[in-house]
Amino acid sequence: MTSCKKSGARVFHCPRCNRGVAFDAEERAQLGLNGLLPPAVNSVQEQVERYRSMLSRFERPLDKALMLDSLHYTDQDLYFRLLIDHTDEYMPIVYTPTVGEFCQNFSRVFRYPRGLFVSIEDAGHVGELIDHCPQETVDVIVVTDGERILGLGDQGLNGMGIPIGKLSLYTACAGIHPNRTLPVVIDVGTNNEEYLADPLYLGLRRRRETGPAYDALIDEFITEARRRWPKVLIQFEDFGNRNAFRLLERYRNQVLCFNDDIQGTAAVTLAGVYSAMRVLQADLLEQKFLFFGAGEAATGIANLIADAMVEAGMPREEALKHCVLFDSKGLVTKNRENLAAHKLPFAHDLPEADDFLTAVRLVKPTGIIGVAAQAKAFSSEVLAEMASLNERPIIFALSNPTSKAECTAEEAYRGTNGRALFASGSPFAPVQFGGRTFVPRQGNNSYVFPALGLGAVFAGATCMPNTMFLAAARRLSELVSEEDLAQGSLYPPLADIRRVSAVIGAAVAECAYANGLATNPRPDDLEAAVAASMYEPRG
Ligand code: NAD
Repeated sequence: MTSCKKSGARVFHCPRCNRGVAFDAEERAQLGLNGLLPPAVNSVQEQVERYRSMLSRFERPLDKALMLDSLHYTDQDLYFRLLIDHTDEYMPIVYTPTVGEFCQNFSRVFRYPRGLFVSIEDAGHVGELIDHCPQETVDVIVVTDGERILGLGDQGLNGMGIPIGKLSLYTACAGIHPNRTLPVVIDVGTNNEEYLADPLYLGLRRRRETGPAYDALIDEFITEARRRWPKVLIQFEDFGNRNAFRLLERYRNQVLCFNDDIQGTAAVTLAGVYSAMRVLQADLLEQKFLFFGAGEAATGIANLIADAMVEAGMPREEALKHCVLFDSKGLVTKNRENLAAHKLPFAHDLPEADDFLTAVRLVKPTGIIGVAAQAKAFSSEVLAEMASLNERPIIFALSNPTSKAECTAEEAYRGTNGRALFASGSPFAPVQFGGRTFVPRQGNNSYVFPALGLGAVFAGATCMPNTMFLAAARRLSELVSEEDLAQGSLYPPLADIRRVSAVIGAAVAECAYANGLATNPRPDDLEAAVAASMYEPRG
């Protein structure tokens, strides 16, 4: 029975309690719904199948996304049942790659207000907006300023599609209760000319605010959100480079927060590296990584790999030398001038190289990690060079969407004669090569960010130190079976995401307890308690 206090047709307009034709005879009688529904009572599974059949009629992913968005707004439980039971199928619709298109069309397809819209014109009054939110408790906020949405650049207010999509995954993957999540867009204007000229654009029609007024608005938002919900986790999402690193440094030790583009990506990639170590039966300390790209993903991953090496006993200065960056101007070296602060720890004493193949020859890495969104950067020459340097080269082509991948899975296996330890940012189908079937898997952030949230919220953590991200990476790699490794998979199947999230969530919570960062009591059986705390829609 629904806990809703509404009755009659009003229940159909409440996404939290609507069950449509799944209301049984008793509920229909009690809520005054007799005559307002067709007589048949469907099971949730039948409702799920009806939606799947309707979704299958749409060819375009964006149309499927819009239909799912409508379902989210009309029957929250059914939406999450569908997502949980068919994660593989619908995650690419609710999140990348379709969420990019959803953002680009956000103002043109806007129907249902969801979340919080804070604009620079609200400065000084953000607390009032936060008090308008209907949620009594919020566990997780995902906030963006829309400046760098995926690889699509400045999307302004339209970037709101990302926090909405990401919070759907917090719920579907890790059981964060949907009524306790809040997507937020901070609208400080946009420099996107197309949107500024679009009469249907819903954001502020002005150029981006930067400087002290921007900082003050972010600060006011964080202060007010924590005033109303003191334990809330704030996840920064898709901020531009200039703000992403700065905001993280400013708040990471004071506030329960993290940046998924930097830290979540790092944890999921390190997990893939740990899995590769299991295949190689090698030590992380023997590895050297060359990154194609030097932005949020690259430096996040490089920092966490260095942390993992330090944890394994290597001095930090030495560990940093095991990670080398290559950006749009070539190899990042000590001689380079005006390097951004996030690149400086990785500016090593190396000769210059302005093409990636030369850099590979100079650095002689055991692994290359592509995170520059430059398609085909891992050419056949680069792959052949990696294969001549290493018996089993680590090749991670993480750039999204698929069209931006540094190489396909097939190219990686063919280019290294089937020896690559491969992971990707976008999904690739299994590859037949040399009489074997390789099953590449995505280094998908969804393996970790929902679980990081679950663990932090469960423990009532006060902040998220790097040890939590290391713990998440280690635990994720441990969940990869020997059979997975034997077929070339460095990650577990995405279909196992609920179990994976519960286990990683417990590891993250354990880290909070062990480091004196938890404010909630620790149950005896942590893993069982974390799993039991997860929201489960009717089904
Ligand atoms: P970013 O904008 O912060 O960084 C991009 C970097 O690429 C910059 O350092 C830039 O100098 C470099 N670059 C641009 N052109 C280049 C060129 N021609 N040669 C060499 N370097 C060049 O972006 P980000 O957040 O680091 O994301 C980068 C890519 O990684 C995106 O495609 C994103 O989708 C992908 N990504 C994947 C995952 C994942 O698979 N789990 C997670 C995060 C990001």
